[in-house]
Amino acid sequence: MTRDQYTFTDPTALYAEIEPSTQHQDEPGLDAKLTPKPDLGEETYRGSGRLAGRKALITGGDSGIGAATAIAFAREGADVAIAYLPAEQEDADRIAGLILEAGVAAVQLPGDLADPDYCRGLIDRAVDQLGGLDILVNNGGKQIFNEDITTLPDDQWQDTFDVNVRATFLLTKAAVPHLRPGSTIINTTSSQAYSPSPTLLDYAATKWAINGFTKAVAQQLAPKGIRVNAVAPGPVWTVLQVTDGQPPEKLAEFGEDTPLGRMGQPAEMAPAYVFLASAESSYVVGETLSANGGKPTP
Ligand code: NAD
Ligand code: MG
Repeated sequence: MTRDQYTFTDPTALYAEIEPSTQHQDEPGLDAKLTPKPDLGEETYRGSGRLAGRKALITGGDSGIGAATAIAFAREGADVAIAYLPAEQEDADRIAGLILEAGVAAVQLPGDLADPDYCRGLIDRAVDQLGGLDILVNNGGKQIFNEDITTLPDDQWQDTFDVNVRATFLLTKAAVPHLRPGSTIINTTSSQAYSPSPTLLDYAATKWAINGFTKAVAQQLAPKGIRVNAVAPGPVWTVLQVTDGQPPEKLAEFGEDTPLGRMGQPAEMAPAYVFLASAESSYVVGETLSANGGKPTP
């Protein structure tokens, strides 16, 4: 029998065969070139109709956590639009193929989240091509390590905020007029919001900002029947980490400092997004769901 997300498993032993290794790609990088391959749930995620008939937009849906979420949403019965950078077309095509294999619609909407006009137009295009919108997953993100504040480029600070924070704001703002009661928004923060690495000043600050934004706007939108929550992944094996997300010499021990003693896989993040997207979480509002291998959070 093939393992799926319901199989009884020792979480310390899971994914022992996927060891992090030193490598480098230029930003934004491709899952297609990441070795060893991450588990996006291609062989392991089993759907059960939990999002039947929903329409979802996932930014950064081409790779990593967003791609695993796209596969899971599709297998739970949702039509899925993915947004990504044009340079990621190869990854996006593969994920669109997996979405279609689930028997739902796949929509591809490439562009740059640092461009406010793209952000504003993205929601209209998703609504148009999906025929509506019930779920927005703000997941696209930028992370570039830097050892010393005196060498952190002003442009990098600004870009990280534009992609991680401003896009989350602009997409949420544009989506709200389209969202019926029952719709959900899920933002992607990080364990970096609570325990920031000294090499990730700009990134950690954006993830803390996303957490605060989530908890504030969740209260504003709850009376409209729109629930906003966040997922806070810990160290997860994705291309983000090998495109200067971490100092390369730290990659080999990536995730070893968690209580589970290992890094996570994108497939282990997707069920958190499914839970927050579905009506199962109807009384969960403004929550940050950590999936981080056991690091304590406030
Ligand atoms: P990833 O590289 O697979 O996904 C990030 C995606 O962001 C890219 O695929 C890309 O499509 C998108 N993106 C980046 N810059 C963009 C831009 N300017 N315009 C449009 N799209 C852009 O890596 P991932 O780890 O799956 O990242 C997904 C989210 O998870 C990010 O928000 C990241 O901060 C967050 N996260 C990741 C980890 C981890 O350890 N991997 C931990 C905590 C949080
Ligand atoms: Mg990508």
